[in-house]
Amino acid sequence: MTSRLLKLLKFSNFAPSVSRYWTASVSNSNNAVVLQQDQSGEQLAFPAVWLRDNCLCPSCFNEAVKVRLNGKFEKSQVSTLPKSMSCSKNESNELLLEIRWPDNHESKFPLQWLRTHSFDEKRQKSWLRNNYFFGRQTWDAETFDKCIHYFRFDEILESDEMLLKWLVALNRYGLAIIKDAGTDKSRVEQLANRVGFLKYTTYGKNFIVAAKQDATHVAYTPTSLQLHTDLTYYEYQPSCNFLHFIQQPPETTGGVNQLTDGFEVSQQLKQHDARMYDVLTKTPVEWTRSWKENNKELYHLFRGPVICENVTGEVQRVNLGPTRGSQFCVSIEQANDWYKAMDYFVNLMYHPKNMVELKMEEGNMLTFVNVRIAHGRSAFTAGARTLIGGYMDWDVVNSRTRGLLKEFNIKDVNELD
Ligand SMILES: [Zn+2]
Repeated sequence: MTSRLLKLLKFSNFAPSVSRYWTASVSNSNNAVVLQQDQSGEQLAFPAVWLRDNCLCPSCFNEAVKVRLNGKFEKSQVSTLPKSMSCSKNESNELLLEIRWPDNHESKFPLQWLRTHSFDEKRQKSWLRNNYFFGRQTWDAETFDKCIHYFRFDEILESDEMLLKWLVALNRYGLAIIKDAGTDKSRVEQLANRVGFLKYTTYGKNFIVAAKQDATHVAYTPTSLQLHTDLTYYEYQPSCNFLHFIQQPPETTGGVNQLTDGFEVSQQLKQHDARMYDVLTKTPVEWTRSWKENNKELYHLFRGPVICENVTGEVQRVNLGPTRGSQFCVSIEQANDWYKAMDYFVNLMYHPKNMVELKMEEGNMLTFVNVRIAHGRSAFTAGARTLIGGYMDWDVVNSRTRGLLKEFNIKDVNELD
């Protein structure tokens, strides 16, 4: 790294016995500002353009609403480098890095702020883990017992700490069970209101799953349901699903839930055959459902692959189930490859090493991540099973989760396990 030393900064920012010297310099190889602590060797590096963009002064950043004010970036700022750098301390004796830019604009960055925003890869990974993935951990049939967490309905309603623990467990493992919710039909909505609000779908604010006459949906018949995720035909698919079991048939008459972690099985597929994985992440499928209700034709359609990745390659949604249209707008070769990959993937989903079966007790709630946990059920006797379901969106759920993490000042979600 070729370094142009701009100024040697000397100050003692901690105990007087320990003199701490920091050096600020510019690396010409990648237009970065590098701060180096002489004694500990701690190094913080930032793109100069990013520092300019993140200036914290009142004309660049509105502290009250936490938003930057320079909506349009000056062209000259994109490749800007500091004209000079120095160090000072603020009223609370905190170290500040001061930068004067070529246009004479001045920026001041507290050391602690720089540390919590550093470009160090390890720190960034840890931040993402705690703020975006919430310590996501996948499971299979063998590890399921360690990953399933139980909560009580009243403790979630009464305690913010328990609410947070449940939300993190839900996010982390993709599911959690809430016990003792009774048989009151408003429980799902009460739970959702504790977090934010339910997501309205074509099926209403919430839905009742029970066998009924003239059923327009297979869920409303007593037959078994294959492993699926709900509303695959929605572009804005609900992320979380809460199912409250009001009435369950006795042991012998079925109604057992099957659950598989779709993120875990996606990883297994990737390890087994990267090409098959590629086919399932890139082949668009027409997810669809159409029916007639109140004399109105409804026709949902979403085009997307079975395994949806985000831009950094993490799986963020798995589409599975019978809601697949007969339109398949790909080439014959692509279709052939897709069926081969799908055959392997679906068999993995049902494999005893991945799928768990459990029968929910009356009054309990199964809360799970709809875009991750494939769920099904065995057939049951008509009339003997009633459950109420409701959906929530990630944006609402995760905003509340992050807010609670902030309130409790929890930096590492592992603390909550
Ligand atoms: Zn500024």
